[in-house]
Amino acid sequence: MEIFIAEHAGYCYGVKRAVDTAIKNLEKNSAKNIYSLGPLIHNDQAVEVLKEKGLKVIKEIADIESGVVIIRSHGVGKSIYDYAEENSISLVDATCPFVKKIQKIVYKMHKSGNNIIIIGDKDHPEIIGINGWCNNSAIIGKSISDFEEIRFNKEKYVVVVQTTMNFKIYEEIKKYLEGKIEDIDFNNTICLATQKRQSSSIELSKKVDAMIVVGGKHSSNTKKLADICMVNCDTYLIETVDDLEIEKISAYNSVGIAAGASTPDFIINEVIKKLSDI
Ligand code: SF4
Repeated sequence: MEIFIAEHAGYCYGVKRAVDTAIKNLEKNSAKNIYSLGPLIHNDQAVEVLKEKGLKVIKEIADIESGVVIIRSHGVGKSIYDYAEENSISLVDATCPFVKKIQKIVYKMHKSGNNIIIIGDKDHPEIIGINGWCNNSAIIGKSISDFEEIRFNKEKYVVVVQTTMNFKIYEEIKKYLEGKIEDIDFNNTICLATQKRQSSSIELSKKVDAMIVVGGKHSSNTKKLADICMVNCDTYLIETVDDLEIEKISAYNSVGIAAGASTPDFIINEVIKKLSDI
């Protein structure tokens, strides 16, 4: 069996930065209580490794009275920064700079009187955080149907996009909104890392008999990768090497491996090793 690995697989810049920041702080401040607001990344195995190093996960910032809180790469709304300041809680901000840029656009544009539209998943932490920079007033949708019931007025609208949004879907929604709203500005804030990961996975899925997509079950970018590979060949979404269906996989002559932005190298390497043994 031939094994190929997508050119862009595994940790993206923002996730790697957040994990490195957490490890650095855990090593530096071993005596202090260090928390992450929500799981640091969407990968249970990586979260477990960080837990062993001392990182505690909290759901709400109000769950603690003191300590150091690491903001994960998805970012959070303004109210979290305000709460931390008022309650003398130290924040270590590991928000990905690409997400930070979106938060700044939204904050500035909302402050100067514009309506905000976010193209993305309203339940995703990145979007919940971004909405928190315009007093939770944004109109949010991830498909045209989400915008069909909205009555837009003559005011100005500013659009930002979830960093992991599929570019084709964004273009479709953009075209729809342009036909509905007279005064509208679009900011294509889709992250290049996502585009690269998606296109290298699509490319590979066209060449091989089957694709193995490795990533956490809560990771939306991993699920999206599996969806786009599925169009071209048999695709298996697995979380760890233990999920590999060896009998099925060994029937293929060539297999490609793709991995989500929050999949650690050690998990990808275990999968490669197991496949090499076949
Ligand atoms: S996918 Fe892009 S925006 Fe999201 S954390 Fe990674 S580098 Fe940052």
